[in-house]
Amino acid sequence: MVVTRFAPSPNGMLHLGHAYSAIIAHDLAQERDGRFLLRIEDIDGARSRPELADEFRCDLEWLGLEWEEVPAQSTRLESYTAAARQLQDAGLLYPCTCTRSEIAALEPRTGPEGLVYPGTCKGKSVDESKPAALRLDVEKAMSSVGEIVWEDEIAGTAVADPRPFGDIVLVRKKEPASYHLAATLDDAADGVTLVTRGSDLFSATHIHRVLQELLELPVPKWHHHRLLLDESGEKLAKRRDSASLADRRKAGEDGRKLADSLRSGNLPAGISLSEY
Ligand code: GLU
Ligand code: ZN
Repeated sequence: MVVTRFAPSPNGMLHLGHAYSAIIAHDLAQERDGRFLLRIEDIDGARSRPELADEFRCDLEWLGLEWEEVPAQSTRLESYTAAARQLQDAGLLYPCTCTRSEIAALEPRTGPEGLVYPGTCKGKSVDESKPAALRLDVEKAMSSVGEIVWEDEIAGTAVADPRPFGDIVLVRKKEPASYHLAATLDDAADGVTLVTRGSDLFSATHIHRVLQELLELPVPKWHHHRLLLDESGEKLAKRRDSASLADRRKAGEDGRKLADSLRSGNLPAGISLSEY
């Protein structure tokens, strides 16, 4: 059975792009007699605003969607710690005490998520009085997994190569996991078979696929959909935004009608769809 999910982070209101994403995940499950899950990704303690999760539920209901909610990330911290320990025992993680500005000062190359960590702390003993993140030794990880692929319903088969990201953080200084580790573990724990999300996270899948291999998790398929763009061709963002779904809802707009127009590609003025 197909299981899809919508996994918003409660660090800002949902906008039209989220509605589009949730509708796609919902409809893909419904068309195939599957299940559609909602997971609140509230692992980022500093930015999470718990009260937003209720707004999200109201938004989805307003759009006419039905879902099953699975536990929020903040309730699953032990599972992240256990997985990190497994990777650490396999010698695949190393502690890093570098700060963002220390890394920037080294003028490293830029990758899919910004500056690529140049591996300063790798193979060194770090100052234990400083807070440390745990980074994946990506070269070592790749030599242990060999060549692996993943299937996207739209883009086809891709060879997993997370090396452009460099040695990414899997355990943050103040949180027991980064997005990559938490989302990969949760999708497995929730039995997600079709990971549905925007194409802005396409490259992150290279990392997730490798983590699945290292942690012996089941391998889903992916469906990376196109993004909604604003007038200037930028993807919609929580910070810079026009009307949030909650604003539209509270102003009395008909959410089901909005959902149907997004489904039919009849987008509101000024909004367009990205290329694949
Ligand atoms: N929590 C992520 C976000 O709101 C989405 C993660 C995912 O779909 O994998 O951007
Ligand atoms: Zn470091």
